Amino acid sequence: MEKEIERKRVAIIGAGLVGSLSSVYFAHRGWDVLLFEKRPDIRKKENFAKLEKRSINLALSQRGISALSRTGLGLDKLILSKVIPMKGRMIHDLGGNQVSQAYGLPHQHINSVDRGMLNEELVNTAASLPNVTVIFEQELKQCDLDSGSLTFSSPEGQEHHYKVDLVFGADGVHSRVRGEIMKKTRMDYSQSFIDHGYCELTIPPKVLETGETDYEIDPNHLHIWPRHSYMMIALPNLDKSFTCTLFAPLDIFDSIKTEAQLMELFEKDLADAIPLIGREALVKEYFTNPKGSLMTIKCKPYHFKGRAVIVGDAAHCMVPFYGQGMNAGFEDVEKFFDILDKSGQGSGASPTDLSLMESCLDEYSTTRHPDVVAICDLALHNYVEMRSSVVSFSYLARKRLEAILHRIAPNCVIPLYTMVSFSTMRYSEVWQRWQRQSNLILNSVIVASSVLGLGSVLAAYFFLKPNTRPPPGQTIFGLATQVATIPMGWAAYAASKVYRQIQN
Ligand code: FAD
Repeated sequence: MEKEIERKRVAIIGAGLVGSLSSVYFAHRGWDVLLFEKRPDIRKKENFAKLEKRSINLALSQRGISALSRTGLGLDKLILSKVIPMKGRMIHDLGGNQVSQAYGLPHQHINSVDRGMLNEELVNTAASLPNVTVIFEQELKQCDLDSGSLTFSSPEGQEHHYKVDLVFGADGVHSRVRGEIMKKTRMDYSQSFIDHGYCELTIPPKVLETGETDYEIDPNHLHIWPRHSYMMIALPNLDKSFTCTLFAPLDIFDSIKTEAQLMELFEKDLADAIPLIGREALVKEYFTNPKGSLMTIKCKPYHFKGRAVIVGDAAHCMVPFYGQGMNAGFEDVEKFFDILDKSGQGSGASPTDLSLMESCLDEYSTTRHPDVVAICDLALHNYVEMRSSVVSFSYLARKRLEAILHRIAPNCVIPLYTMVSFSTMRYSEVWQRWQRQSNLILNSVIVASSVLGLGSVLAAYFFLKPNTRPPPGQTIFGLATQVATIPMGWAAYAASKVYRQIQN
């Protein structure tokens, strides 16, 4: 009689975006997958009202797409058939004028995707695989990580027990699995809130005379109303509405207590958005929708022995200004399986080698941490860029210069946004490269302006005063050297730095 292969069993905690994608990766490799979710089945419309309110749409970019495609099940194509491409930012100024700023080259764009649809498709795909069991309304209450024994409870208070080889924590920002790992390891952990929060609003579709609907504003842009200390953004939805998010200091939210105060702010700073949202709807949504807070969570390591590991928001939470939280979470899964597959532990049919598994999880924690830290920091940096820099002259000049240099030397200068959103370069490398590039650009500007300055001085000296002759005993070259000593010195110094940076 043929001996039945004993499959390795994983419990994935959380059927959110990252957990449900992870279950497909495990199932594809033959693991016996239990996917637990404390909420009711998100695919049933009657449960919609009970679900936690999170951002309605998200920006999906290259890293997320790459992880979807690696499932080998065409998930990338399925999801990309239901997104709206956004090729750039549309800046709304105080006067209501709109200016488009491309994100990259003409073929490059990020994608607005509906969170609910994405989660449903991922859960559907997981549930369609024979070795995945999706269990809703089961909340992880306790886990003994050494033995892999887990206790869940249902809304009726019934307890359910399971035993698994690996606990995979994709249970979001308030992760219980992280808490359990923390008890067992010397985990470094930091959590910091920013003084800004957010509130979601809606621009409904425009109703045409024919009765059909259309978008109120261009759907192929991410719209931004940058107001220096705060901003509003809007992402398009397939039903021709936009979901707006007002990001502002908590003081502003706290100070708006009446309709008049809200309208005063909008009429002063966001006047063109009032007719788009509709006055009544604006007041209703502002005062009924929850105000979310924003924070960064960093921790390390992400695992306990060969028994448990955390991914997605459970392992790192970032402010949403680079649109990378989910993308980074999806990338976690891809990176994790790269390591597991390389070691041979990826296959659900291979016997569990706990020490090999531990070294895989250890490698994952060590290699992933610098990337996660880099994107958390970049996300914070991008808030300033979105709400303020995008309208400053120096920022626009730098962007233009970067774009030109990128065309001339595509491997030498790559705009930061392109590295983050349109590549799968490690985030830590993006961060280092960006710093090197910034120095390179600064020094190039010094060289160019010094040479230009020198040229202008000499031109002014020799051409505006054609009769000028060098003083007796001095050649024109000697005089020029005297005039140019300081700018030439700077230029030479900067040029040597540029040369060294290009060499690197
Ligand atoms: P979650 O989506 O939080 O899923 C965790 C799941 O675990 C939940 O379903 C939860 O119910 C379940 N769970 C929790 N505890 C338990 C338990 N004990 N037992 C069982 N189940 C449990 N990211 C982008 O990439 N692009 C964007 O444009 C973007 N925009 C954003 C805008 C805003 C305003 C915010 C707040 C975030 C945004 N993000 C964006 C980030 C993105 O939402 C998160 O990174 C992503 O949802 C993380 O997915 P996750 O699966 O790790 O966690």
